[in-house]
Amino acid sequence: MRVQFWGTRGSIAKPGPNTTRYGGNTSCIEFRSASDTLVIVDCGTGAHALGQKLMSDGTKSLRGHILISHTHWDHIQGIPFFEPLFVLGNEWDIYGPKALGQSLREALAGQMQHTYFPVTLDQCRAKIRYHDLVEGIFYIDDIKVSARYLNHPALTLGYRLEADGASVVYACDHEPHSRLFATGDGEITGQDLQHAEFANGADLLIHDAQYTAEEYPDKVGWGHSSVEYAVKIGQFARTKKVALSHHDPLRDDDAIDRLVARARAKLRQSSSSLDVFAASEGQIVDVPASPLKGSPRWLGRLPPTPLPANSILKNGENRLSGELI
Ligand SMILES: [Zn+2]
Ligand SMILES: [Zn+2]
Repeated sequence: MRVQFWGTRGSIAKPGPNTTRYGGNTSCIEFRSASDTLVIVDCGTGAHALGQKLMSDGTKSLRGHILISHTHWDHIQGIPFFEPLFVLGNEWDIYGPKALGQSLREALAGQMQHTYFPVTLDQCRAKIRYHDLVEGIFYIDDIKVSARYLNHPALTLGYRLEADGASVVYACDHEPHSRLFATGDGEITGQDLQHAEFANGADLLIHDAQYTAEEYPDKVGWGHSSVEYAVKIGQFARTKKVALSHHDPLRDDDAIDRLVARARAKLRQSSSSLDVFAASEGQIVDVPASPLKGSPRWLGRLPPTPLPANSILKNGENRLSGELI
């Protein structure tokens, strides 16, 4: 499976001379299986350049899938500028968490009302199907997708993609459940343990690392992780690589370098072989098949994740159905 980062910034786009290496565009990642199934995870401002690249490929009747983690601006603002959605003959499936009282389509159309944007979602000429997701497993052609709720002020899904014998987990916009474990110290328990189990044995874990352990106490409830937590989750889940992402807009390239150096030094001290790096815009990571396969152990064994208090689904919702709805 091939992964390319098109946007790695969190919260707001941050172009400028101090963010040229890790990039200023917000979350957008392209996944390709060996048989060329195209899945895009999140459509922040990085989606503009990805759309341009897809257009320049000249593929007729382009077919693709977009998994949206949640509908905060930094994960959807690229959609109105994603040109392949406006091309007749193209076909897209867009997936995102099922929210209360508003469909995914309605949420996406909201940012394209005339007050905000001159073209409405209805004017996209591609054929688009919208899928409101709950936790579960489904297949996009040859890619197996597992979706699991993250801990964030908005209803947010993390995704695990498995294809060609490789597995990649995307968990951005996630806050540690335990304030103590948020620093990366102490025992991993409860829902943090379940979060790690979702990433069990993944070849690549792309994780929210917006803050440091020192910064986190001032950011409790904002919905993001510390670098130290992301690394600990990767270690506990025995992932091969951790890509730190959703970089804070106040963190320039040199500051991100320092975070990575510090994380690597700590891993060396504990003789860990975990490979940690900071995701950078444009970066391509080829994820080869791994002989020892992990699997998201929570599925079928652990109870479903409690939803954040402000995002309760309707009574009777079958949250582990694994079905598209
Ligand atoms: Zn975000
Ligand atoms: Zn968010």
